[in-house]
Amino acid sequence: MSRRTKIVATLGPATDHPAALAGVITAGLDVARINFSHGSEAEHLGRIARLRETADRLGRAVAILADLPGPKLRVKIPVARTLTAGETILFPLLGCPVGEADIAITEPEVLSDLRPGDRMLLDDGRLRLKALGTSGGKLKAEVVIGGELLPNKGLNLPDSPLSIPAVTDRDRAALAVAAKAGVDWLALSFVRGPAAADFLRDAAAAVGMPKVPVIAKLERPEAVRLAAGIIGAFDAIMVARGDLGVEMPLEQVPTVQKQLIAEARAAGKPVITATEMLDSMQKNPRPTRAEVSDVANAICDGTDAVMLSGETAVGQYPVEAVACMARIAEEAEKRLEKVGNGFLTTTALQPRETIEDSMALAACHMAQEVGATAIVTPTISGRTPLLLARYRPAALIVAPAPNPGVMRKMSVMWGIQPVRMAPLEPGDRRMVTAVRDAFIAGAVKAGDRVVVLAGHPIEGEPRLPTVRVVRVGEDGASLEP
Ligand code: ATP
Ligand code: MG
Ligand code: MG
Repeated sequence: MSRRTKIVATLGPATDHPAALAGVITAGLDVARINFSHGSEAEHLGRIARLRETADRLGRAVAILADLPGPKLRVKIPVARTLTAGETILFPLLGCPVGEADIAITEPEVLSDLRPGDRMLLDDGRLRLKALGTSGGKLKAEVVIGGELLPNKGLNLPDSPLSIPAVTDRDRAALAVAAKAGVDWLALSFVRGPAAADFLRDAAAAVGMPKVPVIAKLERPEAVRLAAGIIGAFDAIMVARGDLGVEMPLEQVPTVQKQLIAEARAAGKPVITATEMLDSMQKNPRPTRAEVSDVANAICDGTDAVMLSGETAVGQYPVEAVACMARIAEEAEKRLEKVGNGFLTTTALQPRETIEDSMALAACHMAQEVGATAIVTPTISGRTPLLLARYRPAALIVAPAPNPGVMRKMSVMWGIQPVRMAPLEPGDRRMVTAVRDAFIAGAVKAGDRVVVLAGHPIEGEPRLPTVRVVRVGEDGASLEP
């Protein structure tokens, strides 16, 4: 693996063909996103099973991210329809029967809160309506900007409060499916504050997923204001630019992206940058210059992962989109390495005042000074590799982990190559077996000089955080450097 930035791609009808699925995995997929807002339970279960099977067959570790609807409103229409500017549309309120010409929505109770003049935006803001008022159990609205509306598209009400719980019944239903399939990450849409993290963890625990890490999708202005608390409460964040660009002035999205990435990285939490990154590739085999720049710039901002949505879920060129993203990432990283003075970043972080953090930074510096190709760090929870990744070292972070769930969790984190940790035999030393684990996985090769960091307690040995330098032997042994 030479690429450090991770690639998340949404699975959908476009990746259902076995060749397409194998194609996106081979092209560099690290995390497969299942958007529970679209498709049936049977489709989700089938997609997850086929992904696992194909990834195993190709010998690739791909994590699964279940993306939950959260309090995101969507239209419920049976078929696509065209809205024309000037046309009046009726939205049934809670409990009102739905007529043929009406547009029903997933949580009709919010419609009662709309005031005349409030904006109603459809499909990430592509279509716009204006609320006129309610009468006869329906909200009347006028189409301002028309277009074709497809079933299940999102509805944003940026002028109105959202009085829906953080985790809805739809989320609980989706969680039950995710638990049945087994997933590695959970993402929650429309997070409004830090408290949502525990609501989500409790709901996940209730269906038998007590330990799955949680991602907050930041797409509401109040979430941006409360970002520090949300980053602290969740295990990772997503800059969900689709809804963010509707809920906030679009021109603020680039600066908000930079701010959120910087905050997440300073806190040592992974961050995914999402939506429309290579949007034109839904219909074209090549992206626009602006899209290529967007992906590269998100990487220069310091994102851990970049994400594809419609490009791989419903686009015509899913494999090309992943391959293209991988190439852009590799090129952006080359440039960062050149200007970063041994680190793949232009913004040096302040170390925090903990011993483990000083050890992590020291290991990064040492790797650079001795010309190490990798920093090998055995881990139980994934914490030490994340501390290293936060500094963006040029050396690959190789993380032997005993638990496949922890291995897959690390798939979303910048620069970390998770490898299988072999059980310790009597007389083995963990710092030695970790290098052999890395060697067996092909992450380091004979003759490489590597730094080994034991950040945390090692089984059967004193709790002495240790950094050392070794040369990898023919059989993966640790030799004098
Ligand atoms: P979110 O706000 O969670 O991103 P979204 O509606 O924007 O929701 P994406 O995952 O970004 O959904 O996908 C973009 C579009 O691709 C969707 O709006 C939908 O039209 C289509 N799509 C995605 N996944 C599927 C699927 N599994 N089946 C059918 N269409 C899908
Ligand atoms: Mg989207
Ligand atoms: Mg969204």
